[in-house]
Amino acid sequence: MGRHSYDLGIGLSPDHAALADSVQAFATKIIDHDHVRAVVEQPREDKFPFYWDALVGQGLLGLHVPEDKGGDGAGVLTAAVALEALARTIAPGPYVPTVLASAALSAADAAPFPISDLIGGRAVGAVAMTAPLPAREVADGWQISGVCDGVLGAEHADVLIVPIDTGTDDAAWAAITPDQVTITAQDSIDVLRGAARVELVDAVIGADAVLSGLSRRRLRSIATVILGAEAVGIISWCVGTAADYATTRVQFGRPIGQFQGVKHKCARMGIALEKARAVLWDAAGALDRDDETADYAAAIAAAIVPDIAVQVAQDCIQVHGGIGFTWEHDAHLYYRRALSIRAQFPSREERLTTVADHAVAGDLLPTDLELPAEADAIRTEIRAALEPIADLGEDDQLIALGDGGWVQPHLPTPYGRSASPLEQVIIADELAAAKIQLPQLLMGGWAVQAVVAHGTDEQKRDLAVPTLRGDLVWCQLFSEPGAGSDLASITTKAERVDGGWRVNGQKIWTTVAQFADWAMLIARTDPTVPKHDGITYFVLDMSTPGITVRPLREMTGSALFNEVFLDDVFVPDSAVVGEVNDGWNVARTTLAGERVALSQKMEAYATDRDLLTFVTGRDLSPLATATVGELIAESRAIDVIGARVVLKQLSGSDVSTTSSVGKLLGMGLGQSISEFIVAELGVAGAVSVAGQPSDKAMDQLISGRATTIYGGTTEVQLNVIGERMLGLPRDAA
Ligand SMILES: Cc1cc2nc3c(=O)[nH]c(=O)nc-3n(C[C@H](O)[C@H](O)[C@H](O)COP(=O)(O)OP(=O)(O)OC[C@H]3O[C@@H](n4cnc5c(N)ncnc54)[C@H](O)[C@@H]3O)c2cc1C
Repeated sequence: MGRHSYDLGIGLSPDHAALADSVQAFATKIIDHDHVRAVVEQPREDKFPFYWDALVGQGLLGLHVPEDKGGDGAGVLTAAVALEALARTIAPGPYVPTVLASAALSAADAAPFPISDLIGGRAVGAVAMTAPLPAREVADGWQISGVCDGVLGAEHADVLIVPIDTGTDDAAWAAITPDQVTITAQDSIDVLRGAARVELVDAVIGADAVLSGLSRRRLRSIATVILGAEAVGIISWCVGTAADYATTRVQFGRPIGQFQGVKHKCARMGIALEKARAVLWDAAGALDRDDETADYAAAIAAAIVPDIAVQVAQDCIQVHGGIGFTWEHDAHLYYRRALSIRAQFPSREERLTTVADHAVAGDLLPTDLELPAEADAIRTEIRAALEPIADLGEDDQLIALGDGGWVQPHLPTPYGRSASPLEQVIIADELAAAKIQLPQLLMGGWAVQAVVAHGTDEQKRDLAVPTLRGDLVWCQLFSEPGAGSDLASITTKAERVDGGWRVNGQKIWTTVAQFADWAMLIARTDPTVPKHDGITYFVLDMSTPGITVRPLREMTGSALFNEVFLDDVFVPDSAVVGEVNDGWNVARTTLAGERVALSQKMEAYATDRDLLTFVTGRDLSPLATATVGELIAESRAIDVIGARVVLKQLSGSDVSTTSSVGKLLGMGLGQSISEFIVAELGVAGAVSVAGQPSDKAMDQLISGRATTIYGGTTEVQLNVIGERMLGLPRDAA
């Protein structure tokens, strides 16, 4: 499988990418397929799998263990990066359980078992992720009885960490040696990694066997990241394998990836991968920093990652058809591993409820980006430059913001400030801190990008500057009755006349056309060439004779978009932006790519804040609580994807994949939140009821339907993600 943009893994730093590459190279060489297949057919698992010495030699068992405890001190996030890469080879044996055991021991105040034996590969560890076993206090320790099923790697474990119920969270886990328990191997759905029943009958452990300083929740969080990283590796294998197959398998004379049933399935698998990676990265970073809310971040990862792994593994089998159902194909090995990982987590309802409980309790996850050291000096400079602007009156402030390049700082000076991604992030922060409101350019934002990137000096002077001051309102005359998603099929034509062009045609869905001073217009200037090559981009003065604007009533009841009729409208040559017949490129290649995509939540559409306001103080059924958890987790995933896009931009890497995924998910979230609120309101979701948020909920629900249509429908976005992210074949059209 070649390297695709989606191969870039959980970690974002160059060090992480290098580590992922080297582990992947190591794993592909050492954990070869024939060996793995031989293990599949083996009746019983060996204690140390065939690659164990090489793994130890690479230092992969101690990446996450702090240096003062004998490890590399690289943290859980780094370990997660390695785990993801290794998991793609579906490594057999107790690698992951051993990493989990050493992570648990090193997170406790003192380790009752030598961590160095686990890091050095001399011992194997296991952690039981089951309900706690009742523990009774006895002289100098605890007496424990009970059964833990499905403990990964337990059969050969030299140390077992089991959950105990002592009535206090300070004593939630105990390290036990195999001589204190009965271990019975169990048939596992995962044929490459053993699991066993661990039974304790009045086993007595000393007080020093209890992992002090390690709460029940914290070890669960650590396990979420370690098992979750393995799950992300599984997901990424499934996405890559399905996409490769969809590209090469031909049916009905076409690669199956051209069929949207398959293309969209693969695209959704890719989206799920990005989502899983984002929340896993978020949780691992939070644990490494020991954030106060680290367990909340891990709860979100637990709510998302295990189920995605199972779903994506199922989809991978489906995309393969009959071959996917065979024992010979590896797809089932990944499916089995995904199922065994999910079984280590509490029920889905419990995981979602945990997320909802955190959110309703008012826990807030951090949104700050970790900026590089040079940020401080830049911040001081920007703060000083904004200070005098903050004191100006409204009109003077707009002029100062426009002329100072603050409105679209990524644009080259003098229109912007030629701001680097880092400067853009800091400018946004400082504008907010100084409570300075930028003018809402709406469509003007796009117009300025095109004019500055492709326009003449006069266009820049006459149009870009006043737009940035907030003096001009723009509309976008792109869509036509016969050309929506297939925008390049526009038929509005511009014919050469003396000194310019005569335009005839009809546009539709044109937002704010009735108020606009200027329009971006695309029209066909050469009907004889392929459709993308005969389009020209114009700027059009909306007071030009021949333009008729007819407002259209939207389903909201208001009339923001319009039909626009263009009858013999004269447009001078000076209004052409870029080259004649190069309008498609002008429309596509504005300077938007330079812009840092800082997330903006719009009042018209429901957000996580609306959801929390709604549920606070309200009695919810268990099903509704779980749905709240699901929506909150989704919302966090989208925010984290947004943060990852910005961080990738700061490091100069390609963001196209991650940002289109974030956009697609964001489009649907507001709709889902509104739908939940309205459904919960019952009658008050359909009629105004005093004391209930009926009106706002109904308005947001109705307005929200637009978000999956404008700017590229969901279906078209899925085509784009399938084709650009996964390399699936384009539609024949
Ligand atoms: C609120 C709002 C404001 C808008 N503002 C503007 C504006 O200011 N200026 C402007 O120019 N336009 C504007 N639009 C138009 C918008 O860009 C188009 O509505 C959009 O691109 C879809 O085109 P369409 O409406 O013709 O639908 P169609 O393209 O006809 O799509 C109909 C359905 O078919 C599906 N479909 C189409 N092609 C494919 C395909 N290849 N694969 C799978 N499914 C497909 C779509 O997903 C959709 O479900 C606005 C739209 C809305 C809702």
